[in-house]
Amino acid sequence: MDQTKHSSYTSANTLPLKLLYNEKFLDAVLKRNRIVPISINLFPTNRCNLNCSFCICKDRDKQEEMSIETIDLLFYDSASIGTQSVVLSGGGEPTMHTDFDHILMSAKENLLSIGMVTNGLLLIKKDLNILNLLTWCRISASDDRLLSDTHKSDLEYIFSNTNVDWSFRYILTNPNKENIVEYVKLANSNDNITHIVFVPDMNSNNNNHLSLVKEWLFENNIDTSKCIFSSRVEENKGEKNCYFSMLKPVIAPDGNIYPCCNITNAIDKRDLKDCISMGKVEDFKRIFAKQEIFDGSICKKCIYSNYNNVLKVFKEKNLEHSEFV
Ligand code: SF4
Ligand code: SF4
Repeated sequence: MDQTKHSSYTSANTLPLKLLYNEKFLDAVLKRNRIVPISINLFPTNRCNLNCSFCICKDRDKQEEMSIETIDLLFYDSASIGTQSVVLSGGGEPTMHTDFDHILMSAKENLLSIGMVTNGLLLIKKDLNILNLLTWCRISASDDRLLSDTHKSDLEYIFSNTNVDWSFRYILTNPNKENIVEYVKLANSNDNITHIVFVPDMNSNNNNHLSLVKEWLFENNIDTSKCIFSSRVEENKGEKNCYFSMLKPVIAPDGNIYPCCNITNAIDKRDLKDCISMGKVEDFKRIFAKQEIFDGSICKKCIYSNYNNVLKVFKEKNLEHSEFV
């Protein structure tokens, strides 16, 4: 898959090309020196119907869930200051939220585009009209979970009866050839599935697994044009002025706002509660109106330094001779 397409589907350590296309972002930062939280990452619930070995938030309070009133307020306030989209992820499993349908309808009422990261098990129980409110949806898969016939046929039904950009994110724990081949064949079988990304498990971080997967797919004559082989991204020390915290914050089920989805990894914690919060949902408008930028100097492993480098140029306007390209 070419680099431009790749940049459409991932943000970690890619060049932030999308910002150059986003008129609202450019208008706010160039005319008002303000970075707008273009996209928010909402973890609506900590509940989950799985217990994956590689789960990076095992220590969370697994009963915590954001109330629908708080979610409505968040969507209203964020849309009113220029937010354009929300990604539902976790934390827990977003489809487990008691008011899942309401969340999607509320986002739409506030003109927010919706993306979702899910383990996919409950999708078959959801109303197709509700699922059709999603712009994209990424379904997680792994060697720990074999693609059963039932799950496969459920997914095939959903893919064929919705108009959503579907994809898979396959975590390589202990690479299982048969399972991997099955997933790529499934991805290739339907035009509504745009890609399948393979990522080494964060705990093992074994990039050799990616070479193995490529070899197996080649051996089996499988079309890999939808495959993205994503080695774990380079990690750098965080910036004192973490401008990324103004662009794509995370909102946890308890209403706390955090600077990015990588913060637990960046400071070696197992739960968002152990990280420094930027404030609560009720403070959302103030935090971004006053540009209360997170101090990222505590971060040992930042995966958004490309974003911070570009945002710094916009905010600090310290680029000389911009007329020479
Ligand atoms: S589905 Fe996600 S939240 Fe649930 S256990 Fe697995 S990694 Fe953790
Ligand atoms: S500096 Fe820290 S908070 Fe900011 S993007 Fe990097 S890891 Fe996240």
